Parts: sequence; structure tokens; C-alpha cells
Amino acid sequence: MTDGAPVLPSAELRADFRLAAPYVGGAIVDVAETAPVTNPATGEEIGRVALASADIADQAVAAAAAAFPAWRDLPTAERHALVAAALDAAEQQADDIARTIALEVGKVLHEANGDIRGALAMTRGMLQLVADLEAEEDRSGHPGTGAAPLVRLRHVPVGPVAVIGPWNTPVFLTFNGIAPALAAGATLVVKPAVEAPLGLTATLRMIAEQLPPGVVNVVPGRGSVVGQRLAEHPDVRALSFTGGTETGRRIAAVAAANVKKVALELGGNDPAIVLGSAEITDALITELIAGSYAMTGQICFNVKRIYVHRDRYEEFVERFSRAAARIVVGDPLDPTAHIGPLTTRDGYENALRLLDAARADGAEVRELGTRADSADWERGLYVAPTVVLGLPADHELVLEEQFAPIIPIIPFDTDEEAVNEANRTEYGLASSVWSHDLAHAEAVARRIEAGNTFLNAHRLGASVPLVPFGGVKQSGLGRTHLKYSLEHVTDEHAIIGFTDPAAQLPGIARWQDVAAG
Ligand code: NAD
Repeated sequence: MTDGAPVLPSAELRADFRLAAPYVGGAIVDVAETAPVTNPATGEEIGRVALASADIADQAVAAAAAAFPAWRDLPTAERHALVAAALDAAEQQADDIARTIALEVGKVLHEANGDIRGALAMTRGMLQLVADLEAEEDRSGHPGTGAAPLVRLRHVPVGPVAVIGPWNTPVFLTFNGIAPALAAGATLVVKPAVEAPLGLTATLRMIAEQLPPGVVNVVPGRGSVVGQRLAEHPDVRALSFTGGTETGRRIAAVAAANVKKVALELGGNDPAIVLGSAEITDALITELIAGSYAMTGQICFNVKRIYVHRDRYEEFVERFSRAAARIVVGDPLDPTAHIGPLTTRDGYENALRLLDAARADGAEVRELGTRADSADWERGLYVAPTVVLGLPADHELVLEEQFAPIIPIIPFDTDEEAVNEANRTEYGLASSVWSHDLAHAEAVARRIEAGNTFLNAHRLGASVPLVPFGGVKQSGLGRTHLKYSLEHVTDEHAIIGFTDPAAQLPGIARWQDVAAG
């Protein structure tokens, strides 16, 4: 919004997009406290977010619990028709939602479009999958089910599901939790991140308005208040969380007290290993540049450190640096910009601190990139695409997640050494191995501790819906995408029956006299 133009065409819609308010049981709830939502490219306030109380979170859970039985019991086709119409309603506003996301996150419009449109497409895919899986599994007469003539396995929705989302890809990643719940027949309470709540809250409001009251509830607010309450609430049966590892640990501890199902998508420190058998081609550099710097380095599975075989190191560093120098940094609405600013002031200050620490430790810090005219470097949270060379292998910038466009490049001599360094972290989200010898790449990939290891790729497109996505070690618990995320929001319900209660189950002989006596 650098030109002062309104975010949206109509005043009515603008009001919706500019205040992320709680929506509970089919109605907006007034709150006493709000906080500003700012455009990180300019520092301007673009909207406000409600800071709801724990009481409002309780009301939302109560609304979701009340709506659950009727929603669950609707025939699937009927329920899905309602959801599909709700998705269509949101799709009609997708351009405005994308623009809002671009402004609140600071990500370029192309990526903001993927955020909203990807979320809606994913939900449609989930409806299809649930319809396909609907048939109950009849195991009657199957060897291993014993003497029972009737054995039926059903997947039933767990009940109210809470979803706590992050600010970096606020709609798509939160929909990773929302889509399976909606499709499976669960009801929802969603807590958007306070830093970027506007696009997600508007989307969910449009969807909620098309569904029975209480099926979708939204409660914006602080993590320590609303998020915490949802984690500890005994009527929330499953919780999906996407965010930082520290917060994930806290949520898991709280949720354990009431035996809630918890899915955690947490931080990552993805290594990319360029093997000695790789040729340093334009395609390799392009893909690694995109994997490292897309979304200003704020994707959970961006490349966060690059290990290059010493035989290729010099050539790689020169070509990678040259390409990084051509990345255009600008306002998120500027069509020429590859990347925008960082989203949060904390993240910005942390990035500057890491650069100072690297310099103090004797590293070579190459601040690259090209500033677009639209980038207001004085007011925006801009950090140039940066390459850092000569860091010790155990430096904070190597072992911790930086969440900024600052990439350390480190040489190695043997595959063994590369694998050890890649695994020398508590994170294990994604990773990649690069070589023109696919067998060599796969052999190394098999030794990496991660949820996903990509070969000659490292970006969003590599994480396709048909394969499970998630982390090992401190990067998460559970998997998202299609059937993997359905497991989190459904329970197995087994119905096992005997025609004659005196059926021949082992051990019954000992009790036979009881009824007769
Ligand atoms: P964050 O942990 O600060 O916040 C995430 C959400 O949790 C927000 O909605 C926040 O309000 C809420 N929250 C904070 N404290 C809480 C508490 N005590 N109880 C309940 N909820 C609480 O994370 P962030 O800064 O928004 O996101 C960045 C981090 O998320 C990075 O580490 C990134 O790697 C990770 N991430 C992971 C994935 C993945 O798929 N694995 C995807 C995106 C982001």
C-alpha cells in the first residue's frame, strides 16, 4: 500500500479485511483489546487484530462442540456440497485476499496468490479423498478377526479440532490443519498468528458464513492466551500446530495433560549437499537460489545451509554469489521484485545480530541483491540476500534456524563428513542432495535424518500432496498431506458383532455356570 490506495475495492469488504475479529458460533464477537497489523515494507498500519480473551476461546470451543454432532451426522455428500460452495465464495475474493496477505506478510504477490489459492485447492482435494475413502471397511469373515461374523472399521471425526497457524504462510499452512478436519466432518476453532491474521480471518469468515453456525470458529489473539487455552481445553480433541520448535514443545506438554492428539509442524534448518559428482549448471544454481531465498528465507523448508564438495566449492560460490546479486528486493506489490522484506521486527533484528556475529567471528559476509526503486530501505524490514563464507561448522548461523535470506556455504571433503554435518542439528524437516549421478545422490539421501530429502530440488513444488510432509527430531510430530493428515482428525472406530452372545470366544467356559445358576 505504498501509494495510499485502498487495499480493497468496497468499503464493506475493506472493513472485513482490516479487522481480524473473532467469529464464534456464526457471529462476530466484540473484543476490548486490539493490536496493529503493519506492512513490513513500510511500517504503515494496514489493519488491526483482536486480542481475544481465554473466555472467547472457551466460547468458541463450546460452539464447535455444540455444532459437532449434527455436522458429523450429515451425509458426506451433503456436508461436502456445503464446503465446496463455501470454498467457491472464498475463491471469488482470492485476489483481494492475496493482496492482503502480501501486505501483512511482506511476501510478493505471486507467493501470496499461492498461499490462498493453494489452500482452497488443497481443501477441494481433501473432499475428494474423503469421499473416496468413505466406504467403511468390512472385515467380517477375514482371517484374524476371530469368530465374529461382523467386523466393521470406520474412520470417525474426532470432534472439535483446534488449529494454530504461523505468520509466514498464514493461509496455506493453517489450511494444512483445517482442510482435513472440514472434509472429515470435524468442527474447528482456528487461531491465526497475530502478525499476519487479516487474510486468514477474512477467508475463514467467508467460509464460516456458508456453513452451519459453530462449524468454523476463528479466535485471533496472543499465543500465550488463546493458543494456550486451546491446547489445554479438554473438549478440543485434536490440535494442529505450525510454528516454532520452542512453542511446539510447550503446546505438546500442555496437551499431554488431557490426552489430546497433537500434530506439530515445527522449525527446520535444512541442509543442501552439493556432491563432488554434481555439475554446477545454471539450472542447479537457479533451483538452489530459489530454494534458499524464496519468501525472503522465511519458509520452514528453505535451504538454510549449503555444503559443497571442495572440488566444486570455488566455482559454486562464485556462480551462486553472482546469481544472488541479481535477486531484486522490493515492495511486495512490485511485480519486478523476487523477494520483499522480512515480516517481523524481531526476525529483522535477529538477522542483523547474526550478521554482526558472523563478521565478529571472522566470516566473509557478502551482502548481495539489487534494490528495486520500490524498496523503502529506511522504513521497511529489508535484509539483502546474503552469502556467508568461512564460518566454523558449529557457528549459530549454521546450526540454528536463521529464518532470513542469509546463507552459509561450507566446503566438505568426503560424503561421510557432509552427512555428519547435515545431521548435526536437532532439526530434521527437509533436506536436499545435488548431483548429476542420481544413484550417488540417493545413496547419500538415505543417510540423512529428515522427513523429506529432495534430489536436485528444494522448494515448495518438491513437497507434493501425494507424499507425506513433516519433520523428525525437533522438527515435528505427525505428517501433513492427504491421507496422512486425515489420520490426525479421525479415530478408528471398530464395530465387532456376534449373532449369538454365547459365541465361542476363548475363556467363556470358565463363566458358563454364572448365568445358569
Ligand atoms: P511461533 O511458534 O512464534 O507462533 C506460531 C503460532 O503459535 C502463532 O499463532 C502464535 O500466536 C502461537 N503461539 C505462541 N505461543 C503459544 C503458546 N504458548 N501456546 C499456543 N500457541 C502459541 O512461530 P512463528 O514465528 O509464527 O513461525 C515461524 C516458525 O515456524 C519457524 O521456526 C518455522 O520454521 C516454523 N514453521 C514450520 C512449518 C512446518 O511446516 N514445519 C511451517 C511454517 C513455519
